[in-house]
Amino acid sequence: MSDSTQAGESIVDSDRIGEVGIHTVEPGKVDVSHKTILYLEDVTVSFDGFKALNKLSLYIDDGELRCIIGPNGAGKTTMMDVVTGKTRPDSGSVFFGQTMDLTEMDEYEIARAGIGRKFQKPTVLPEHTVFENLELAMHTDKRVWTSLFSRLSGEQRDRIDGVLDTIGLRDQARRAAGLLSHGQKQWLEIGMLLMQGPRVMLVDEPVAGMTHQEMDRTAELLTSLAGERSVIVVEHDMEFVRSIASKVTVLHEGSVLAEGTMDEVQNNKKVIEVYLGE
Ligand code: ADP
Ligand code: MG
Repeated sequence: MSDSTQAGESIVDSDRIGEVGIHTVEPGKVDVSHKTILYLEDVTVSFDGFKALNKLSLYIDDGELRCIIGPNGAGKTTMMDVVTGKTRPDSGSVFFGQTMDLTEMDEYEIARAGIGRKFQKPTVLPEHTVFENLELAMHTDKRVWTSLFSRLSGEQRDRIDGVLDTIGLRDQARRAAGLLSHGQKQWLEIGMLLMQGPRVMLVDEPVAGMTHQEMDRTAELLTSLAGERSVIVVEHDMEFVRSIASKVTVLHEGSVLAEGTMDEVQNNKKVIEVYLGE
């Protein structure tokens, strides 16, 4: 990449080379008139007879920040797989707002409709700058060449700058993503997800491997992201879950064991048994 390229400028000053689509979620498309944005009802998923999810019912409010905890094998990842269309439930219903039946949509359609997922494994392109990674994440056409050679509109540039501010990486915009710290890479991943304008963000173990300082900033970031969108965080680190102070759902053997504030669930007898019995 040329050194003279300014953050915010497209790589080549040509007219568009190939049409590139942009992810947007039409406002109002998700019917949240009942306040709930995500419904899982009696969802069961079996693997060779073993129930990874067992009549799981879970409701997420529009704009809510929810933490999902639970011992290994509780079904947390399977729950996310069901919501994102990676795994089909054997029974039960999964709705996005009042009207969108996620069990009838494929992974791509679900992502397009506004449900984004941040995986643990990094997807940043290390040789590209932070800015370019965000630029790429905005395009539906994932071919690097086509995407980076299309001209950015002022509005698109503003969106990228806005996300850079949100994730606190404005001063890193010109750096190669591969040079970022572990924590910064995780924030960039969150930024890449934000570029797609999700209404629901699923985040799997965001603070694994982070320093305490990075964990604090991540807690602030995720808290700031809720409101405008719903954020569902699966996390093992109890101190972190406590620090984001949201409603907590404890999963165990594929269903909800307890739900409430961190204090409530930590003092719940069933929860204590499950964690002590691990
Ligand atoms: P968690 O994320 O809470 O640790 P998972 O959702 O990954 O739990 O797994 C729940 C249970 O389902 C585990 O016992 C796991 O071994 C099992 N499981 C998950 N995915 C599969 C699969 N593709 N095939 C067979 N068993 C699976
Ligand atoms: Mg898991």
